[in-house]
Amino acid sequence: MISENLRQVEQVIQNSCALASRKRDSVQLIAVTKASDARATQDIIDAGITHCAENRVDAFLAKKAAVHANEKNLTWHFIGNLQRRKVKQVINELDYFHALDSLRLAAEIQKRAEHVIQCFVEVNVSGEDSKQGISLTEVPEFIQQLAEYDRICVVGLMMMAPFDSTVAQQHALFHQLKQMQEQIASQSLSYAPCTELSMGMSNDYPVAIEEGATFIRVGTALFKE
Ligand SMILES: *Cc1c(COP(=O)(O)O)cnc(C)c1O
Repeated sequence: MISENLRQVEQVIQNSCALASRKRDSVQLIAVTKASDARATQDIIDAGITHCAENRVDAFLAKKAAVHANEKNLTWHFIGNLQRRKVKQVINELDYFHALDSLRLAAEIQKRAEHVIQCFVEVNVSGEDSKQGISLTEVPEFIQQLAEYDRICVVGLMMMAPFDSTVAQQHALFHQLKQMQEQIASQSLSYAPCTELSMGMSNDYPVAIEEGATFIRVGTALFKE
């Protein structure tokens, strides 16, 4: 049951926070609703979830519209690859965009945004071919180049660990992103405060919390039967 899943995930989050001497409110749980229907999404909101995420434009807009009538205080995250031709449809509908990974996409966001968009730069820390995101070494220069886009605020960095990685590998990968986040944050750039880390999914969020995640993106663990 969804409320029981949420209770279990919440318990794991609290344990991981305790293990890392972190406060519970330093980690925001995002429910990834991409594999769930509007009914299950409403159920998890009723159980207490306030942040939701989708990875496809059509589903994002449909899901948001379906629950919007009752739920105006939700925070909506877009966590998928966003094609430039679809930016216009969705960019002013989301609260956080987690997959900024090219200057061409940044230019399109700049063109279509009606206000400053809170963005995470997506980083391919493991270097897997199949992954979206820029490489870790490219991050400082990429962020420097975003200075000219006043509709983009770099709130943090985002990553996905390879699905088959070991716990030791996950620690190492998440730690690398944390170090890069701190390096950017130390520059105190007005357009890139970079205080946040979006990392950790159903199979690795406890490790991500230990390594400093501030937003975890959890789907399966919340919606499993
Ligand atoms: C699907 C997805 C998640 C959630 O994955 P689960 O393993 O179901 O928790 C998190 N982040 C991104 C970018 C996703 O596409």
